[in-house]
Amino acid sequence: MSVQALRRESPPSITAEQLNSTLELQRAAFMNEGPPGYRVRRHHLELLLRLVLDNQDRIAAAIAVDFGADGADGAGRSTDETLRVEIMPTVFSIRHAIKCLRSWMRPSRRSTHWATWPSLARVEYVPLGVIGVIAPWNYPVSLSLGPLAAALAAGNRVMIKPSELTPKTSALLAELIAKSFTPEHVTVCTGGVEVAQAFSSLAFDHLLFTGSTSIGRLVMRAASEHLVPVTLELGGKSPALIDRDAKFGAGVGSLLLGKLYNAGQTCIAPDYLLVHSSKVDDVVQQIRTQAASMYPRLADNSEYTAIINARHRERLLGYLEDAREKGATLLEINPGDESPERFAEANKIPLTLLLDVDDSMRVMQDEIFGPLLPIKTYTDLDEAIDYINAHPRPLAAYVYSESAKTIDRFGRRVVSGALSINATAVHFAQDELPFGGVGHSGMGQYHAREGFLTFSHQKAVYRQLRPNLMHLVAPPYDGALKRRLIQFLIGN
Ligand code: NAD
Repeated sequence: MSVQALRRESPPSITAEQLNSTLELQRAAFMNEGPPGYRVRRHHLELLLRLVLDNQDRIAAAIAVDFGADGADGAGRSTDETLRVEIMPTVFSIRHAIKCLRSWMRPSRRSTHWATWPSLARVEYVPLGVIGVIAPWNYPVSLSLGPLAAALAAGNRVMIKPSELTPKTSALLAELIAKSFTPEHVTVCTGGVEVAQAFSSLAFDHLLFTGSTSIGRLVMRAASEHLVPVTLELGGKSPALIDRDAKFGAGVGSLLLGKLYNAGQTCIAPDYLLVHSSKVDDVVQQIRTQAASMYPRLADNSEYTAIINARHRERLLGYLEDAREKGATLLEINPGDESPERFAEANKIPLTLLLDVDDSMRVMQDEIFGPLLPIKTYTDLDEAIDYINAHPRPLAAYVYSESAKTIDRFGRRVVSGALSINATAVHFAQDELPFGGVGHSGMGQYHAREGFLTFSHQKAVYRQLRPNLMHLVAPPYDGALKRRLIQFLIGN
């Protein structure tokens, strides 16, 4: 589909009444039909997989438009990047769910207390009912369909509210989901912030929100009205520490992938570096060389993604101005020597390193979410770890080191959603690892079996067999035998 054709589509905004009636419809269908079995769930996951596989080009085209492609060279987000950062992880996670579904669903047998013998116990994993999913704009497909896959594997019905900042992708998702699923099973609810607010107030059986910490707070408050349990996948400042004995030459590529995929608009992008003071010049040089080889040009290069909109570009340029005024040294990496006007036209910003930074600068206070990379130096590892721990807990912490002692110390002392050693961001794509934050970077998890568990109720099922001695613990409590038995059970 051409960019121009996509531009004409705009998703209608769902009303508060429609939101309520969709929830009622899905809940009634869930209550009437009961939990789906293995075959039905597998079929739902296969439908979802087909939806993604059959529509890769349309998805990539819609995302390109949402990231500002207007048919001109270099703008938006390239199909190649969307294949790597949205289609691939989504397809992998759905395939993984299909592969593991039977074992995930299998009840787990538990032993029973001998005093209640003969008896049996097990935990059954039953669907919760209707799940709400609120998605952000930065990975509009994988962060909508990833949670959807986990919720479907667990046998639920799902309502999705995608971001208003990606209207073309949201419209496409609504269209594709409506073709593959009935409205009483999965629905995409499009609209702006008012719709998001109304959505987060619905009496779901569980609500998964992916977005900023500030909005996460509002979502949790709205959900508390109906005691809706929440999973919050939030953001924050994820540090990357480069130790004295890091082989950073081998690691710089992985650091830049994490930082420059989607132009840094990634929740787990390394937000800032903590570099041992003896290595700063080397690290800066390695980053310069490697960045130039990955992106010889930026504004005119469609492989380098644009900033989502002008407001976010202004926000990022504001960080640079603020830091410069407060004494930071800025190193712009612009290997093709492209002009500021070209960057403005393409709504892009070159990778910019910031040296001599301190906490008075906004770039060291807010989550950056763009291609700016502050570099702080340290001399003592504990001092660097203390700096991280004095700030809100990050979604990911990265350490580049060849020293087992340093890695161990960093891993034990830094509290973060995830720890990645000599790599950034790729832990997200590991199907067997749960994904989630801690503290201000979020609560709860999805991906892997943990995602299935998030959307399941772990129901305790107990069965008493006969004959048994249970009458000995029932009233009346008199009688020496009963008393002796209870004393025996309690012990001393
Ligand atoms: P955002 O918080 O502005 O918006 C996220 C979603 O919340 C959107 O769908 C929006 O419509 C909705 N929303 C907006 N106002 C709302 C309100 N008052 N009540 C309920 N919902 C509301 O986030 P964003 O700008 O779309 O995404 C960027 C943020 O998301 C960053 O902080 C990033 O770190 C975080 N993020 C986290 C993850 C993760 O997995 N942990 C992944 C991607 C992005």
